[in-house]
Amino acid sequence: MRTFLSNVLSGALFSIFVIACSNPSSDAGFHREGPPNVVIIFADDLGYGDLSSYGHPSIKTPHLDRMVAEGQKWTNFYSAANVCTPSRAALLTGRYPIRNGMCSDVRRVLFPNSAGGLPQTENTIARILKPAGYATAAIGKWHLGHLEPFLPTSHGFDYYFGIPYSNDMDAVNDLDRRERFWNAKIEYFHVPLMRNTEIIERPADQTTITKRYTEEAIAFMNSHKEQPFFIYLAHNLPHVPLFVSEDFVGISDRGLYGDVVEEIDWGVGQILDYLRSSGLAENTLVVFTSDNGPWVAYDDHGGSAGLFYGAKGTSYEGGVREPAIFWWPGTIHPRMVTGMGSTLDLLPTIASLANIALPDDRVYDGYDLSGSLIEGLPSPREEMYFYHGTRLFGARKGSYKAHFFQNNPRGYPERMEVLDQAKLYQVQHDPGEQYDLAAEHPEVLEEIAEMVEKHRSNLVPAPTNLESRLETP
Ligand code: MG
Repeated sequence: MRTFLSNVLSGALFSIFVIACSNPSSDAGFHREGPPNVVIIFADDLGYGDLSSYGHPSIKTPHLDRMVAEGQKWTNFYSAANVCTPSRAALLTGRYPIRNGMCSDVRRVLFPNSAGGLPQTENTIARILKPAGYATAAIGKWHLGHLEPFLPTSHGFDYYFGIPYSNDMDAVNDLDRRERFWNAKIEYFHVPLMRNTEIIERPADQTTITKRYTEEAIAFMNSHKEQPFFIYLAHNLPHVPLFVSEDFVGISDRGLYGDVVEEIDWGVGQILDYLRSSGLAENTLVVFTSDNGPWVAYDDHGGSAGLFYGAKGTSYEGGVREPAIFWWPGTIHPRMVTGMGSTLDLLPTIASLANIALPDDRVYDGYDLSGSLIEGLPSPREEMYFYHGTRLFGARKGSYKAHFFQNNPRGYPERMEVLDQAKLYQVQHDPGEQYDLAAEHPEVLEEIAEMVEKHRSNLVPAPTNLESRLETP
């Protein structure tokens, strides 16, 4: 008891010492009342098992691990699609892409010759936040249309800096796949780097891209700290081809892929350190997650889904379940959450935290998770639908997940097949989707079928925006 009391007393004295030593005239201690700042850090093709705090044995991610220790680690968190474009559309609009045409069975994502993008009729998180006085920036990969009407600056963002689509596009030569991806060079991919609506560099120097995105995010926070800000920082990496800056070459025990992830982790550390040292941390929500599972078709240049089955391009858990970390010191109580969440939930959650009512002119597919984040309540999300393009490949209700299709678990090449008999997994007991319980629990399959029917009853599939192409001269 004496030891306990002396620890408490010495801790209290240390806190008083720290407060007394802080300099009120410096940036430290800067505090603004009102709605929180929001920073979403979105990795590309990072798997569930690629962070040390999510079980990777050789990639070191100390900054994300600290974010986990100080925040909430969600372990049943889903992206709303298994490839880039629809996943991003879902995060920013809070709606399954089938509702706004941001999916297709012909072209799964947008390409440099695509003529379409996210329609103007959609409300992004940025557009929802603007009337509350937020400064808004999109930094990094966009992939919701590279033509002006579809760029971030046409969707509620004050500022854009980034590569407007995937970093493997605009490939400029006929090198074989192994040379192009395993020995990637900047000049092999003629991707543009944009500031607002202008191309400022082409090909983008991808070796410095993670560092530059991080610096841009910090500069934006620093120049807008007098008002609430929203930053959507979507890294182009660790999507193949892998690029890393000089300082990180060979730094990890997991080869080039590990180097790339460790540089992203460094960037997260820079952002959190800035928030701590500027005194903004207590007024800022930071979310870290990824758009889809690892691209294992590229062997060790792709990541790991950990204990899950499947990968990018599949609706198995490995294709859609992502690491998800919520950090807001003093507001979000640190814990691990095993309830369900989704990138679809970010829009309603952020709107709720900013005290903004959502326009009621459309169907949203997200839930407000603020009660779980702040008060420790169970997640309101009880179901998840797994679309592959426009087709529903599976659905989860509570702990049970049904598959209506099967596919190549590596994602590519796709080998999709409708199942005569749906498969059923208890994914809390069996996260690796190994033991089909369909024969044992037909009543659960029936409940899921009813849930799907109800979901479809208010669903009007929109015409696709991913298939129209620019005319080539
Ligand atoms: Mg991706």
